[in-house]
Amino acid sequence: MANDNKLQNIIAHCKEYGFVFQSSEIYDGLSAVYDYGQLGAELKRNIRDYWWKSMTQMHDNIVGIDAAIFMHPTVWKASGHVDNFSDPMIDNKDSQKRYRVDHLIEAFAEKLDKEAGDALLQQMDQLLAANDFAGLKQLIETNKISCGISGTCNWTDVRQFNLMFSTEIGSVADEANVIYLRPETAQGIFVNFLNVQKSGRMKIPFGIAQTGKAFRNEIVARGFIFRMREFEQMEMQFFIKPGTQKEWYDYWKETRMKWHLSLGIAADKYRFHDHVKLAHYADAACDIEYDFPMGFKEVEGVHSRTDFDLKQHQQYSGKKLTYFDTDINQHYVPYVIETSIGLDRAVMMVLSEAFEEEDLSTEEKKDSRSVLRFPPMLAPIKLAVLPLTKKDGLPEIAKDLIASCKPYFKCFYEEKDTIGKRYRRMDAIGTPFCITIDHQTKDDNTVTIRYRDTMTQERIPLDSVRALVMDKIKMF
Ligand code: ATP
Repeated sequence: MANDNKLQNIIAHCKEYGFVFQSSEIYDGLSAVYDYGQLGAELKRNIRDYWWKSMTQMHDNIVGIDAAIFMHPTVWKASGHVDNFSDPMIDNKDSQKRYRVDHLIEAFAEKLDKEAGDALLQQMDQLLAANDFAGLKQLIETNKISCGISGTCNWTDVRQFNLMFSTEIGSVADEANVIYLRPETAQGIFVNFLNVQKSGRMKIPFGIAQTGKAFRNEIVARGFIFRMREFEQMEMQFFIKPGTQKEWYDYWKETRMKWHLSLGIAADKYRFHDHVKLAHYADAACDIEYDFPMGFKEVEGVHSRTDFDLKQHQQYSGKKLTYFDTDINQHYVPYVIETSIGLDRAVMMVLSEAFEEEDLSTEEKKDSRSVLRFPPMLAPIKLAVLPLTKKDGLPEIAKDLIASCKPYFKCFYEEKDTIGKRYRRMDAIGTPFCITIDHQTKDDNTVTIRYRDTMTQERIPLDSVRALVMDKIKMF
């Protein structure tokens, strides 16, 4: 219950301070579609930058591309998405409400005690792995799992439902072709594999990274920005020699977990979940799960995709997609390890981790504050500069400081309200450092720096501020 409240509080906080808004809110919103506000856009961009640099700058052999959202329709035939990108669904005949079968059973399992819940999930995994739809329906019926709206167990059969959005390309109606909005960014990497390998003279093992929008017609879209119909992915495909996939899969599992821990999040907030039911392209796969306010859920997938995608594209396009390995004088179709993280889920993870309603009450008075304890490198605003008063030349000193810092990082200036209120507003949007300019600054060129997390303050030289902040926001 407390965690339910936490999620609701985060959603309200995001709206109040300009992080995330419901899309088209003045028209009552569009379900499972969200807009990032002025601070959310900064936070999201910082997380994207950190991922991008971790991949492309900190690895000598990974390059980044930016492929189009629209792709030739045969791409999705070749990738298996037209035939296989579907989830088993079930409808309640009384409420007409449609559920993803795994979500329906998982939600029920959460209400059981641990042993019974785990047993149920294990049965579900086995039935999903065997594509046994009749068995899944029976599992729902024997456990008397009911619809949250009608309260009945009057279910249809379990059916597959494709999650891709389609539209038409071309200006003349009868010449128009159906194309899909990409449901993952990965295929833009596969079809460019040879372009990048040849033009970049890349030698295996090497990776291609990309961030960008993906679209899925999710049936049960819930959990704020956890599950959206339009979202952003950050994916990297690592091309390797066949036979080395186990070692590279383990390497990327570990490397990605290290990246997560480098966000300052404790190890016990993460766990791996190894897949029992493997996707049609994979020979091993796991999720990195984070302990969201609604429990442990997937934030990233690490998949050993074999040579499935490149071979399929080779077959459907009729073009060779092989690599000549000079070390062994052989041509082969490379194997691939994929790391795929949802940017919006990463934003939600960082927000969930950072958000705290802190009780600061003393015996004399009640007090509290809302604070977002972002790692400084991810904070939307790094430094607030606050003149104590609006006069006596203090705003001028503050503005000079901002002018010298803003080419390097995002700053914020404010002169209204008491200093205490201004500090609290900066806590609420996660600004890690506040500088106060007061009358003493005029005498000795020192300022007060106030730290968001500890709320401690100290006096430092004005001309040391920029270097201090730059040191604390370093990504690497
Ligand atoms: P789920 O089981 O939660 O539907 P998935 O296993 O289908 O996710 P992948 O296809 O592996 O997800 O996609 C890689 C990543 O993209 C996921 O780990 C997740 O972070 C993100 N992602 C997938 N679907 C969505 C969505 N609808 N909204 C936001 N992020 C998503």
